[in-house]
Amino acid sequence: MNDCIFCKIAAKEIPSKAVYEDEEIYCFHDLEPQAPVHVLIIPKKHIASTDEIMPGDLGLMGRMMGKIGEIASGLGLENGYRVVINCGEDGMQTVKHLHMHLLGKRKLTWPPG
Ligand code: 5GP
Ligand code: ZN
Repeated sequence: MNDCIFCKIAAKEIPSKAVYEDEEIYCFHDLEPQAPVHVLIIPKKHIASTDEIMPGDLGLMGRMMGKIGEIASGLGLENGYRVVINCGEDGMQTVKHLHMHLLGKRKLTWPPG
């Protein structure tokens, strides 16, 4: 996806502060953190949203989920954290490349706004 900002970040065409990376997953600090720790975990492959996850993506989705604990632990989130995926207009998704927000190091209120 030529015009996708997160594809460009994954390809290092746009700089970001890396937290974790492997062949298919990238994790980097959010530009406008909403908590003392706020990182984004993305598939390097362009998937627009949770609505666009295909059966062939499920292994990758599982591997992304499987990295959360390791990334959280590396960021010192032993007291807990929140993982958020926004989707679509009502979900207030602003970047149309699937991403998990990982937020922590403060008490996160519920319900979200
Ligand atoms: P969404 O609202 O789509 O769930 O989340 C998009 C997130 O991407 C926002 O938290 C926003 O701050 C972050 N973001 C948008 N553009 C950039 C960027 O160029 N670099 C980084 N590191 N984060 C970005
Ligand atoms: Zn993309």
